[in-house]
Amino acid sequence: MSETNEQNIKKQELKKPVLFSDFGLLESIQNRLKEFGYEKPTPIQAKSIPVVLDGQDVLGCAQTGTGKTAAFALPTLQHIIPKVANDKKNERYIRILVLAPTRELAAQIGDSFKKYAGSGGPRILTIFGGVGKNPQIGALKKGVHILVATPGRLLDLRNEGHIDLSGVEHYILDEADRMLDMGFIHDVRKISRALPQKRQTLLFSATMPDSVISLAESLLHKPMKIAVDRVSSTAKPVTQAVYFVEKFQKYHMLKDILSDTTIKRILVFTRTKHGANKVVKRLLRDKINAAAIHGNKSQSARVRALKEFKSGEVRVVVATDVAARGIDIKSLSHVLNYDLPNEPESYVHRIGRTGRAGDKGTSLSFCAEDEKKHLRAIEKLTGKQLKVLYTPKHIREILPPEKLEPTQKKHGGRSRAYRQNRKGGSSPSPKKGRQRTRKKTDG
Ligand code: AMP
Repeated sequence: MSETNEQNIKKQELKKPVLFSDFGLLESIQNRLKEFGYEKPTPIQAKSIPVVLDGQDVLGCAQTGTGKTAAFALPTLQHIIPKVANDKKNERYIRILVLAPTRELAAQIGDSFKKYAGSGGPRILTIFGGVGKNPQIGALKKGVHILVATPGRLLDLRNEGHIDLSGVEHYILDEADRMLDMGFIHDVRKISRALPQKRQTLLFSATMPDSVISLAESLLHKPMKIAVDRVSSTAKPVTQAVYFVEKFQKYHMLKDILSDTTIKRILVFTRTKHGANKVVKRLLRDKINAAAIHGNKSQSARVRALKEFKSGEVRVVVATDVAARGIDIKSLSHVLNYDLPNEPESYVHRIGRTGRAGDKGTSLSFCAEDEKKHLRAIEKLTGKQLKVLYTPKHIREILPPEKLEPTQKKHGGRSRAYRQNRKGGSSPSPKKGRQRTRKKTDG
């Protein structure tokens, strides 16, 4: 342990760090943090940074939005910056390797490293599939100190002889649970076997299912276990509520929610890509700017959609779980689960898109009859009962029947849902309905 780090740990034993300046980080890093207005470390940063500076392995349980990227990026940068300061091209090798499940998340981590390192420091490269290999190969040839990658593309380029992992000193697996959900376990194991035995390994995951624990056991050496928040709890500052709806009411309720002009941006999750496209199509038809982000969209379409979402040009992004992993937008106030996920962990990830780094967020969920089992699983995992905002009966009252398009043309052209809605009958005026919605949602 270096003297500075030893002093640092002792200092922290005496008093809990409350400022970044307590960590003894390099001045260049501290200046960058000041530039971004980061004063206080978040809990995961406060716990991880001294341990990582000390060289220990970490098993971190933290959701997105807790500041975990800086929790691993800052101390690993601190380790390598002095070593690479005068590296010549032929002396450069990969010292930090970060694996992430999706291209969006990889790009976001790469950007964070660049942000914290500033210019002129370590060379940072992000690689992922779905785009041409040549620019990535070109960048690798110039020598890279920090490589952020999705597992598939990393193995591809390594098999082609463009990547040497034999010098990796710090190995970081981010969102390990998602990586395993996406079937990357064999790739992750293959990559891990190609690394030197002597290295520091940091594994972060939002949830800790058995599969992640067993991966951690095989990769980490006496790790410090760090958890912020309860293992399966949802990010704290997020207000969560559920609308019990009938399937055909979902789109109309979405539109009703969007009639609240204070909602500048909303991320909507659907179960399928087709579902995402359908919602976007209807929104566009109703003159609401929307875009879909999912696996069938090209990388450039996804980047464009995200850019327009960030700039406010696009108000609604409709995404599937996998594609939404890397979405990090400062002030994303609302997330809507248009369909509830069948894996409760996905719910935790989804709502982690809002309420980031202490900001307030709202997560709304639509739950149709056949999704009630998913809701029960979510409530069991999060240990929290969601507040019920509406039931189908309420919705029939606030949404006038003429606004509900029948989805199945049976029985003289009217769906069962439509006829039921007519029967429910005594609907107030749309205006009144809208006012009631607002009041309830705000409460
Ligand atoms: P992450 O969980 O790493 O994706 O970070 C979530 C967001 O919090 C990102 O937009 C970071 O830029 C921001 N952030 C991270 N650490 C801090 C901090 N200590 N103070 C303020 N914002 C932070």
